[in-house]
Amino acid sequence: MKTRQRQHEPVIGLEVHVELNTESKMFCSNSTQYFGQTPNIHTCPVCLGFPGALPYTNKKAIEYCIKIGLALGCEIAEETVFERKNYFYSDLPKGYQISQYRWPLCRGGRMVVKNKVGEEREIRVNRVHMEEDTAKLVHQFGISNSKGATLIDFNRSGVPLVEIVTEPDFRDLAEIRDYAKKLQQVMRYLGVSNADMEKGDMRLEANVSVRQVQSSKFKVQNELPKYRIELKNINSFRFMVAAVQYEIERQIEALEKGEKLVQETRGWDENNRRTYVQRVKEEATDYRYFPEPDIPPIEIDKDIETELRRQMPELPWEKTERLIQEYSLSSSQARVLSETQEFADYFEEAVKVVNSLSLSLSLSLSPVRIANVLINKKFDREQVLPARFVEMIREEEDRPGVSSEELEGAVHSVIAENTKAVADYRKGKEASLQFLLGQVMAKTRGQSNPVAIREALLRNLR
Ligand code: ADP
Ligand code: MG
Repeated sequence: MKTRQRQHEPVIGLEVHVELNTESKMFCSNSTQYFGQTPNIHTCPVCLGFPGALPYTNKKAIEYCIKIGLALGCEIAEETVFERKNYFYSDLPKGYQISQYRWPLCRGGRMVVKNKVGEEREIRVNRVHMEEDTAKLVHQFGISNSKGATLIDFNRSGVPLVEIVTEPDFRDLAEIRDYAKKLQQVMRYLGVSNADMEKGDMRLEANVSVRQVQSSKFKVQNELPKYRIELKNINSFRFMVAAVQYEIERQIEALEKGEKLVQETRGWDENNRRTYVQRVKEEATDYRYFPEPDIPPIEIDKDIETELRRQMPELPWEKTERLIQEYSLSSSQARVLSETQEFADYFEEAVKVVNSLSLSLSLSLSPVRIANVLINKKFDREQVLPARFVEMIREEEDRPGVSSEELEGAVHSVIAENTKAVADYRKGKEASLQFLLGQVMAKTRGQSNPVAIREALLRNLR
């Protein structure tokens, strides 16, 4: 296994689709809400693909797409063109999808990710383009005849969709996880998508191949394998990671046996935990792309780009870096706090509250300390304002406490009354200590200091 991995390395590129949370669809004014809705209520001749219906573009969606491109460091096109991607499938009433091909909105970005040994690597983003979602197919069994039937819900047809395509730069699963997570964060920071993978707001497709690790004696460095396996229609992130991992192993094994791998599309079979062939590509699908005649090319004014740049929020990785610099937080604390803007804001607000109080307090309640309590204490931040949170930390420290005899007595009776928890703790169950601590706290009417209780408990349990 070890030597195998040294001889072969995976080459992986990701295509991610993100559904935008605009109010209306990409080329008509219907609502984009389809989740949990009655099927086929948000439709019109445009998104039902009636002949002669004329599309008109959603400006907000274009702006959102540009913002995503800016966040990923892309170059924004001065002129962008929609094209028809022609293929026949029942989720596509027009017989083509309005997408972008030769003139995408954004090109050439990057994202820094961490690999499995914690090193930072740059993944190149090839393009970020705008398109429309297809209708949703619902496969039903046992209706109409024993074979079942497929129902079509056009509520999703025409919902704005952004596709983000990377170069084949991923080399391990940690990089893929980090990329997907950061992309999801970016969408939420920008407020352009909920990026909920379970709901299908964000969908991943992976292209996987493996090659011999190239040494300097090879003439062509980093040559791409001639084949690639497309992993498609896998609707959970966990399954996608499992499928990529399986593919890497399968392909290395095949190559070692001297087999030749061919281009194909595979899906994930969760029951047998393996990928299976869905489609073998004899040659590249020809979508016969051509410019959409009903939508004129769109010019992106430099002023618009400048304005959108101005509207950009601090991005997740920028926030992480600033929290480290400004508050001397550890990088893991900073990363946890910048998981959402709301969490980081809460932290910064709490620090402000402390700083506005007396100097002696701000000395004892350092930002690192606040970050620690905030990360470890589980409470509903929506119910507790930062100022109240700071007050709570202070109260905990200033508890009047109870006499050592009273505390000792409470500890003895809690140990006597909770033989099971005591036994569990002695068997190594740390959570039981927490439980006992809570019991002592209750017995002393919440007046004891948690540190003192812990000390007394541990002493008596020994
Ligand atoms: P298509 O239009 O058929 O999807 P693209 O050239 O746009 O083809 O590539 C799609 C994805 O496949 C990209 O993310 C790209 O990085 C990735 N890719 C291309 N070649 C390889 C390869 N040999 N191994 C793995 N991924 C690849
Ligand atoms: Mg593709």
